Amino acid sequence: MDTHLPEYELYAIRYAERDARRSDHFIGGDPHDGPMPMDYFVWVAIAPHHTVVIDTGFTAEDVVLTHMHYDHVGNFHRLPNARFHLQEVELHYTTGRHMRHPFLARSFEVEDVIGIVRLNFAQRVKLYDGPAELSPGITLHPVGGHTPGMQFVRVHTSRGWVVLASDVTHYYENMEAGRPFTAAFEAYDTLRAHAPSPHHIIPGHDPLVMRQYPAPRSQLEGVVVRLDVMPRG
Ligand SMILES: [Zn+2]
Repeated sequence: MDTHLPEYELYAIRYAERDARRSDHFIGGDPHDGPMPMDYFVWVAIAPHHTVVIDTGFTAEDVVLTHMHYDHVGNFHRLPNARFHLQEVELHYTTGRHMRHPFLARSFEVEDVIGIVRLNFAQRVKLYDGPAELSPGITLHPVGGHTPGMQFVRVHTSRGWVVLASDVTHYYENMEAGRPFTAAFEAYDTLRAHAPSPHHIIPGHDPLVMRQYPAPRSQLEGVVVRLDVMPRG
């Protein structure tokens, strides 16, 4: 652990869930098909003088967009004061020639893309060309694969660095079994290289996250969990 760095409290907030099947989540499908529901999260890191939201949902000073898929970037109009942090290649991709193909465009909302362009004209977007330190204790790591500008986020906490994988891995099982849902084999090695242990990696859509980590208080059971403490079991 780096003692000179701030220790963030880190929360996963589940904003939606949906039913899905195992064959939806692995490249090439799954021979033992069955239910495999998906949770949708935003994440918040809080230190005494700095709040960072990872993918959008709440008022904050800084927002990291891990990538531009619609389930990770909605609601910027509700964030009048935030600065947004995005890999530049993601902006190029979502405003470029590939978006004329419905198959490639289907996970992006044109209004989200236009929204980022507007924010950029308003000097509220910081675009990165590679790994970066957003501020002491928060670092950004582009890995591509899922989208060209896909980045994961590392947050320094009292249990050391916690890696928010976002859509680099939807489920623990994708990574543990080496069976990604998009071509992300190399990205799993990069996630592991940035985490002190596998228990410090948080997948982007796995309902197990809600079961493995404690709610900060009982009224938030099933909605919010703390990720800056070790998982149960
Ligand atoms: Zn995605």
